[in-house]
Amino acid sequence: MRNMIKKSPWISIFNASSCNGCDLEVLALLTPKYDIERFGCVWKSSPRNADILIVTGPTNGQTKNRLKKIYSQMAPAKKVIALGTCGITGCVFRDYYNTRQKVDEVVPVDIYVPGCPPRPEAIINAVVKLLKKL
Ligand code: SF4
Repeated sequence: MRNMIKKSPWISIFNASSCNGCDLEVLALLTPKYDIERFGCVWKSSPRNADILIVTGPTNGQTKNRLKKIYSQMAPAKKVIALGTCGITGCVFRDYYNTRQKVDEVVPVDIYVPGCPPRPEAIINAVVKLLKKL
């Protein structure tokens, strides 16, 4: 089972309140140019089925508890990527009235990918690093 996860991890994304810039870079991974599926990655719409959860943006009043719940529903060996400077530090959303906490203050984060937004190559690099940890 562990070997299967390493060879074909299921990945999902959760937008905790990003501006969608980071999410668009994640979508670019599915295009022939970046083709993250060559590493065996499978995209799942439900984070419950995912081995790796990519979280973009800091949490807000609506998403903080949802992120906690989604993380608790993922199967063991789950890994989290905090994608983009907003999820890591709060960045431009830090002082917003409805911004709550950074991603790692809500769920454990295994790898940080800074940038605004991060390049697709940086996201691929993070996923490949996580494959070694799974
Ligand atoms: S890091 Fe930049 S691109 Fe990503 S959510 Fe924040 S402002 Fe948007």
